[in-house]
Amino acid sequence: MNTSKCRIKKDDKVKVIAGKDKGKIGKVLKVDRKKNRVLVENVNMVKRHARPSAQNRQGGIIEGEAGIHWSNLMLMCGKCLSPTRIKVQRLEDGKKVRACSKCDEIIDS
Ligand SMILES: [Zn+2]
Repeated sequence: MNTSKCRIKKDDKVKVIAGKDKGKIGKVLKVDRKKNRVLVENVNMVKRHARPSAQNRQGGIIEGEAGIHWSNLMLMCGKCLSPTRIKVQRLEDGKKVRACSKCDEIIDS
């Protein structure tokens, strides 16, 4: 059981490493830290039945992303262009940043 903390943040580019969308790459739309679930653009699309509303007068079936557990995702490093583990680095001024464990590229600016 992986008990490490979720280090994925909104707008990160991630790759899906497990589940039906394995191999897909997308941008993080939302992170739910309480549920440990991450919403990734065009990943884990599900159809929902919608009631008619102001935006959608007919109701019917709408498609949208459903959250997936962050442990099924890996961050894409923009420098080595591959999925990577995230390590936390402490800068000289004490600020903590996320960095690629492969090439040491700092992910947070
Ligand atoms: Zn890297």
